[in-house]
Amino acid sequence: MAGIAYVEGRYLPQADARVHMEDRGYQFADGVYEVIAVQAGHLVDGEGHLARLERSLDALGIPMPSSRKALETVLHEVIRRNRLQFGSLYLQITRGAAPRDHIYKDGMKPVVTVAAKRVSPPSRAASLRGYSVISLPDIRWGRCDIKTVSLLPNIMGKNQAVRAGAAEAWMYDDEGLVTEGTSSNVWIVTQKGELVTRQLDEGILAGITRNAIIAHAQKFQIKVIERAFTLEEAKGAREAFFTSATAILRPVVQIDGVRIGDGQVGPIARRLADAYFDALDALGTAP
Ligand code: PMP
Repeated sequence: MAGIAYVEGRYLPQADARVHMEDRGYQFADGVYEVIAVQAGHLVDGEGHLARLERSLDALGIPMPSSRKALETVLHEVIRRNRLQFGSLYLQITRGAAPRDHIYKDGMKPVVTVAAKRVSPPSRAASLRGYSVISLPDIRWGRCDIKTVSLLPNIMGKNQAVRAGAAEAWMYDDEGLVTEGTSSNVWIVTQKGELVTRQLDEGILAGITRNAIIAHAQKFQIKVIERAFTLEEAKGAREAFFTSATAILRPVVQIDGVRIGDGQVGPIARRLADAYFDALDALGTAP
């Protein structure tokens, strides 16, 4: 990330952007975040991300630092000051800074930071390639529905995946049910042709992209079943893929070295990715 960042009411060159060393986000991971894609200068699903942010804050008892509208104004101002066309915004809100103590006081002032990341416009080609994933036990806590900055298991898992030449790690719980990827939601198309994604509960993050993909599927009258599936079922599926705001939709053609379907990108993944990209293009395309 570079360019202009927002830190506690000020817009600063990122190199000068600082928070207090006793920020509770730094010492306790006591904070939440959102990553929002930017397409042609517009927030992608901004409303959904801000609604989820409010839910995460609420779950931790961190007050919303300002109105949603005021927060949105900050996000748009970061886009404007960075002349950001394609990329993403990273928005983080921590409980605030105070002398280190497990107990926090009421009335603390949350610390808001926003950084911009410029990337090339998202490519449909990335959704037409097949990716490999590995599986790993899900060793996270019991409230993965809250988007906290506490991401150590996710980071360890993702790095293990990448070092193994895979794009993502799919995590499974004690019953062998797949929960989600380290930074994505998981999907399969069963041999019966049903589109399945894990139900929302405290075990996974309610992906904003997941929501959008469900809406596209419904438009095509593809039935979406929200239920858990085992790793074995996934390995025997016709298609598999994962979704997130930045990866969009990535077809999976191998899980732990086992070929999925015919080893090619499947028609349902392709159709849903196309629909998602069409909606993105409607916001504006690269010149
Ligand atoms: N699960 C986890 C653990 C994630 O980190 C992400 C990415 N934020 C997702 C799912 C996908 O969420 P979204 O579609 O909102 O990016």
